[in-house]
Amino acid sequence: MSASDQQVLVNKRLLQGANMPAAGAKILEHTQEAVHQALRKLGYPDEVYELLKEPIRVLTVRIPVKMDDGHVEVFTGYRAQHNDAIGPTKGGIRFHPDVTLEEVKALSIWMSLKCGIFNLPYGGAKGGIVCDPRKMSLGEQERLARGYVRAVSQIVGPTKDIPAPDVYTNAQIMAWMYDEYSRIREYDSPGFITGKPVVLGGSKGRERATALGVCIAAREAVRQLGRELKDCRVLIQGFGNVGSNVASILHDMGVKVVGVSDAGGGLYDERGLDIPRLLEQRDSFGMVTPHFRDVMPNEQFLLQPCDVLIPAALENQITADNAEQIQASVLVEAANGPTTPEADTILERRGVLVVPDVLANAGGVTVSYFEWVQNLQGWYWTEEEVNRRLEAWMVQSLQTIFHTAKTYHVGLRLAAYMVGIRPFAEAMRWRGWV
Ligand code: GLU
Repeated sequence: MSASDQQVLVNKRLLQGANMPAAGAKILEHTQEAVHQALRKLGYPDEVYELLKEPIRVLTVRIPVKMDDGHVEVFTGYRAQHNDAIGPTKGGIRFHPDVTLEEVKALSIWMSLKCGIFNLPYGGAKGGIVCDPRKMSLGEQERLARGYVRAVSQIVGPTKDIPAPDVYTNAQIMAWMYDEYSRIREYDSPGFITGKPVVLGGSKGRERATALGVCIAAREAVRQLGRELKDCRVLIQGFGNVGSNVASILHDMGVKVVGVSDAGGGLYDERGLDIPRLLEQRDSFGMVTPHFRDVMPNEQFLLQPCDVLIPAALENQITADNAEQIQASVLVEAANGPTTPEADTILERRGVLVVPDVLANAGGVTVSYFEWVQNLQGWYWTEEEVNRRLEAWMVQSLQTIFHTAKTYHVGLRLAAYMVGIRPFAEAMRWRGWV
């Protein structure tokens, strides 16, 4: 099979992907149930849930883009703002063919939880455009990114709603969006968006922040079991921005990464993979397996021997079908929503320690907050400063959730939902909304 045939096959597999349209609705439903449970556990009345179960504002837009061959394609995009009782809303924009309104809504609720857990002065938001950037030229992506900003410009801004990167978006897309927004407003507005290139006011350390937070979460979780991360074998699903940076940081920490995967399948070596080489070989969409012959299917990959499993791809990867056979004793959710509720129950029964997404991957939005603060002040920090603060905040938040779980006799996920949602209930009460 030629390299391009292989890429087509990979794209096809990706499109058939993890996330069917109905999956978004299910994810939203599960998120709402978990929020409801957390609020009940904290003793809040149902009217608080009534306001928190859906975003306060959702915008659906249609974006015409002149494609390179001259024809116009119309894309659908969304922006969901979950709750603005605490401050402006915040969250990434994803470019993916499987984006749905329900998924974006659920992701906006998760962003609120992350901000609540880390005491960030924001509520959650999320954006998404139904598109496949892997099949678009850079020019087409730029026109789409700018068109999206024009379409949502009324409801976003540095004190309203601050976007950031997410699945298949990056510093380049943020730069175009920042440029477009500044043109519309007729003033330079770096605080409008985070995850920008450093030369345009991006924060040092932002690109690796989610991954660094995940590694700190893994280190602390393993310690809860009386072990050290450097004695563990780690399996990483996904080799995008987060997965590849997790691999790189773990490698630098001297941790053995025994497996990595991308949309085409997984690579596994119990002696540890050559991470620097894989990092050199990966493309901008996180593909590395086209360079190898010995690639196992993703379903099989997740079941390989390891101590720590780090899903860093899309939603719904650990399900009732594989949770029984997963070999890890610690699962750290670098992706948003990788574990279904059914799988969660199985893992809990089996004694697998699961560090939930809203805690484990919130290093990204935390350093986005640092970026926004730096933009507003016009005073920029060193990378050491950023990483030192991130580490302190991460360790503190992990301790809070571990402590809440013990105090209330609940699992880490429910504890995280409780800690994450409480500030919103309180802020809404002070404002007289409920
Ligand atoms: N997209 C990232 C997330 O899901 C980061 C959001 C942000 O930095 O605002 O947490």
